Amino acid sequence: LLIGMALLFFVLATWFSHLMSRKAMVPIANAYARQREFVADASHELRTPLSVMLASIEALQLDESAENVDSFSRKVLNGLKAEVSSMTRLSGNLLRLARSDSDEGLGEQTLFDARSTATQVIDKLSAMAKAKDISMTLHAPTKLMVTGDIERLTQLLVLLIDNAIKYTPDNGFVQITIAEGVDRGVRFFTFEVKDSGIGIPADALPRIFDRFYRQDKSRTRQTGGHGLGLAIAKTIVDSSGGNIRVTSHLGEGSSFKVQLPWI
Ligand code: ADP
Repeated sequence: LLIGMALLFFVLATWFSHLMSRKAMVPIANAYARQREFVADASHELRTPLSVMLASIEALQLDESAENVDSFSRKVLNGLKAEVSSMTRLSGNLLRLARSDSDEGLGEQTLFDARSTATQVIDKLSAMAKAKDISMTLHAPTKLMVTGDIERLTQLLVLLIDNAIKYTPDNGFVQITIAEGVDRGVRFFTFEVKDSGIGIPADALPRIFDRFYRQDKSRTRQTGGHGLGLAIAKTIVDSSGGNIRVTSHLGEGSSFKVQLPWI
């Protein structure tokens, strides 16, 4: 009888704790979903007024002949434009993060050439690199057909290469390598973005993928970042079932390596 009662007690206790944990989890999940929705809605709503502000500033700046715009006002307008552009980027990134949080799927899968996708991204960012005399090179097979979400992958490459250029001083290099491989029977492809930049201190490395984390706030203020780029990169990699690793040496450079499975 004692054994029976102990067993009954054990079953009841397990059932009760299971019920309680479910009860606790549901409101947390709801609160999280509501918060995500709020961030997505707020960022979306901010887009229109921000683009109206930007267009108005540009209209005033373009009108060189306007007598009511003196040199002081022009200076103020330049400052305003920089801030509005920064807010536009921030709201776009917040919207992207909120959307990727709620969308756990793989996205639309198509077959594409990874080399030509990388070439397009490099071309898009080449003016930024040229302005700093940074050389950009691509090492990849002539053609590497992969299956994946081309839009997300392009975004991932833009984020990593953009950072590599931003955090590399003049006359440095950015090297992009694409390769394929097999790990325990699973086919994968890798992207590596390597730079000869300022590097990341060892104690900051575990935090760089956190939202709003910026290693040096004054420096990133100059580079115009908000600390969301790598957080977005990580959600893209996670939702694709891959992984991202970073190695870095202060003053020598960093390397971001992404491994993605072939779906
Ligand atoms: P940010 O908008 O500040 O660039 P990210 O999320 O893209 O935000 O990066 C987070 C932080 O990681 C940056 O502020 C910077 O300190 C560091 N970081 C990212 N990429 C590099 C890199 N290639 N070289 C040196 N530091 C980097």
